[in-house]
Amino acid sequence: MADVNLQLKTLGAVWVGWDLYIDRSEAVEPALNELRAIGYTVESLREDEHRHEEGTTVEQMEKGGWSLWYCRLTDIRRGKCSTCQAYISEQGIRSQGHTCENCGAITYLEIQDGSLVRFNFVGEEGYFPSELQMKAYYWDADQSDLYLYPDFPEQRGGWGVLHGDKTQEYLAKHQDKWERVERDGNTYLKVRYVKSSWTKDHEGVSTIDVRDISNHYWGHKIVRLWEGKEYSEWDTKFPVPESISVLEAWHWAPLHPSPTLHEKIIHAAGMVSDQGYYYQDGRAAFYAVHWERMRVFVEHFTALDINEWDRARFRHDGPGAIADIARFCSPSAQVANRPNFGNSIVAHGKALEGNKLTDQELNAAADGLRDPHRPRFD
Ligand SMILES: [Zn+2]
Repeated sequence: MADVNLQLKTLGAVWVGWDLYIDRSEAVEPALNELRAIGYTVESLREDEHRHEEGTTVEQMEKGGWSLWYCRLTDIRRGKCSTCQAYISEQGIRSQGHTCENCGAITYLEIQDGSLVRFNFVGEEGYFPSELQMKAYYWDADQSDLYLYPDFPEQRGGWGVLHGDKTQEYLAKHQDKWERVERDGNTYLKVRYVKSSWTKDHEGVSTIDVRDISNHYWGHKIVRLWEGKEYSEWDTKFPVPESISVLEAWHWAPLHPSPTLHEKIIHAAGMVSDQGYYYQDGRAAFYAVHWERMRVFVEHFTALDINEWDRARFRHDGPGAIADIARFCSPSAQVANRPNFGNSIVAHGKALEGNKLTDQELNAAADGLRDPHRPRFD
């Protein structure tokens, strides 16, 4: 079964996963026009600014098999008010106290009465600063004032969360960053908190760094609309791709056997061609959807014999599949097997649990320790 349920009439337009490959130049405009008719906006990546800035030439893009067109459905997302059920604009819908333009109900509260806020005061150094967890009463986002109940909830908080006398010591140490105030007839602890996860506006204003907030108020959903039907934001049954990369295959196809042909086939299926990336214990990593994509790619865009491909028996675990595909493509194939620190951790964990490790796992684990990207503890 193909990934994309979108049949184009244009001859020479072939789906591999969510990518559309065009195998002849005269098919480009008809295929793009079909996509435009469906509702996609089409952007030419030959004109892309980043490409110009990076100095990549059009010829490099064509010969290198880059995506040359980017198609996107631009007008399918809506907010949906949970109070009046109207479709409303997505703009600002997820900001504190935003209201529905139809009925005036609140669409979202990042912090509501009862939200638990885990934070430390600004100016605390170190990777694991001490933290307080307090219950919020009200956040006046316009004034950047956050009102907290003055007592400390007796519950789990996680690493670094202070309890008991430590909380009072910590408050005393940072007494310039909060004040005790009266509001609605009760006493609260007021701190300064500017919401700005995407800017640095809060610096110099906020007196706390927020680590976590639980218990938001949701008065909306984000939905996608297609042909009169509503789909949730993440519904995998949404019938067409939201975006499509279009590749022009005649610049480079058919691909002939080479030491790296298997990488192009594997990448076309959206998979990584480095053996070290995968689990080393033989568990499956390549599934039916990947074999289907690779088969289409091999049939249409390589000089390999598709009947032989169909007869071949490939292993399905990551390292095995890569080795088998590489051997199928060329006797001189070069298979990447880079050290991966993740394999060291997996192997270490298994060994601790008393499991016997395969030699492959042990070798990968040893290699993983040479991974230049491994975390450093010093
Ligand atoms: Zn509403």
